[in-house]
Amino acid sequence: MIELLSHVGGQWAKGSGQPDKSALLVNPATEEPLARASTAGIDMKAALAFARAGGADLRRRTFAERGELVRAMSRAIHAHRDELLGLAIANGGNTRSDAKFDVDGASGTLAAYADLGAELGDARVLLDGEATQLGRSARLFGQHVLVPREGAAVHVNAFNFPAWGLAEKAAVAILAGVPVITKPATSTALVSHRIVQILVEESVLPPGALSFLAGSAGDLLSHLGGQDVLAFTGSSVTGRMLRGTDAVLAHSVRVNVEADSLNAAVLGPDVELGSDLWNLFLTDVARDMTQKTGQKCTAIRRVYVPSAREEEVIEALRERLAAVKVGDPSRDDVTMGPLATAQQLADVRDGIAKLGACAKVVFGSATEVSALGVSPGKGFFVSPVLLHGKEPDARDAVHNHEVFGPVATVMPYDGTATAAATLVRAGAGGLVTSVYSDDKAFVRDAVLGIAPYHGRVTVGSSKVASQAFPPGTVLPSLVHGGPGRAGGGEELGGRRGLAFYQQRVALQGDRALLEAITAKG
Ligand code: NAP
Repeated sequence: MIELLSHVGGQWAKGSGQPDKSALLVNPATEEPLARASTAGIDMKAALAFARAGGADLRRRTFAERGELVRAMSRAIHAHRDELLGLAIANGGNTRSDAKFDVDGASGTLAAYADLGAELGDARVLLDGEATQLGRSARLFGQHVLVPREGAAVHVNAFNFPAWGLAEKAAVAILAGVPVITKPATSTALVSHRIVQILVEESVLPPGALSFLAGSAGDLLSHLGGQDVLAFTGSSVTGRMLRGTDAVLAHSVRVNVEADSLNAAVLGPDVELGSDLWNLFLTDVARDMTQKTGQKCTAIRRVYVPSAREEEVIEALRERLAAVKVGDPSRDDVTMGPLATAQQLADVRDGIAKLGACAKVVFGSATEVSALGVSPGKGFFVSPVLLHGKEPDARDAVHNHEVFGPVATVMPYDGTATAAATLVRAGAGGLVTSVYSDDKAFVRDAVLGIAPYHGRVTVGSSKVASQAFPPGTVLPSLVHGGPGRAGGGEELGGRRGLAFYQQRVALQGDRALLEAITAKG
């Protein structure tokens, strides 16, 4: 069996201990073991020191030069696309289409940040806003600037996007001039491991720019200092624990958390049955439920429809979900693979039971599924499950518990934007909500009502129905993250994402001297 190595201190390192059971990577369709991973015995303090030292090289480079490193990462991943897709299918339970979403998302996000690097050009220091005259004369000025922090960026990622998760964080940190230690979730680490192997084999990055842990983070976080940053994606329970690490608190380590989210879709009262907008809404809901077997942080979990449309929406979704073919994701005819781990399967079944207290299953089953091309009883399969919550209440599990699988609940509202927004807000902070309507007043009131509780809101309307991006697709140019339950974090957003890795400093003094400090080149 393959033993995954970590890449720390500029070399491959094998964990010395006996890996525990959770560090066994399997194929979730067959349960066949694929690899083992362990970081036992790895000196995390030394790994962190090596990474920090790698920052000097990155900081010497201009944005354009760092952008070229990021572009080289994108190209290397793309050049090995087929191999990476194969690993995502085997270890992640991804269909080929799911795997492309992850792997192409990785190379695409890196390419977008490479372009941003080219745009920022010869600069090493970024100006933040206009200079402000401070004194009586035009000489005394204040200017905010952004400079790279001198620590390392520790990236801890979730199991669902082993390629994109690594790349979307690394692209921003490296462009900002900060070296990275990346730690994927162990259960699906094969893809990230291979990406790092490729980058090392092809000497894409300078020493120290990217270190990699295959397995537990060990005591890494206890060595973090005030110039380091921690970016975490995963469950809110883990996020809370990492935020409370002594070293993080003692040294005011900057932390970004991307956690759970009960994303919603709102169908406006004006949307006619069978219209392009109606179809867009149904396509988005059905895709989000089943893409990556619903294991997408941005997937729609709550579907609010005017009460008069409930039955029509449920019927139309049933029809679409009935066409989903669950099974071995390596088969071309399969459109939804298994959940990623046995734990995920247990959690999803448990979550559906929780939702059962306030909603009735109207399609699918938590336990019965016939999976194509797999031995009976093998694999972590579940069917898409649609529930109907007739009388939604903010205290219901559907507004408080994220079921991280192919599960969504349709619920009624009275057709007013205020009522829709009140229900959406009961999710207590989300990554994205989509509103489908052509009615300007409804869209305005719904969007402004839900916006303070979200990182992103998408508006689906007839005029953009044919070109709209699915709400579950995170774009490098727009921010990703959300308040409250979603972790309170913010990533990407083009240039905005760089700020997490930079120190904002207010410079004040003689304008000519300030300009010499911030000059390009
Ligand atoms: P998880 O169990 O919280 O694990 C996330 C990561 O944290 C993994 O890499 C895990 O490593 C690591 N970890 C666990 N304990 C740690 C510790 N004590 N010190 C350092 N690292 C530690 O979450 P998951 O099951 O992978 O992901 C599912 C959750 O992620 C869902 O709730 C979903 O909503 C959320 N998610 C959010 C976003 C977003 O962008 N907001 C995106 C994707 C997923 P090991 O695997 O080695 O245990």
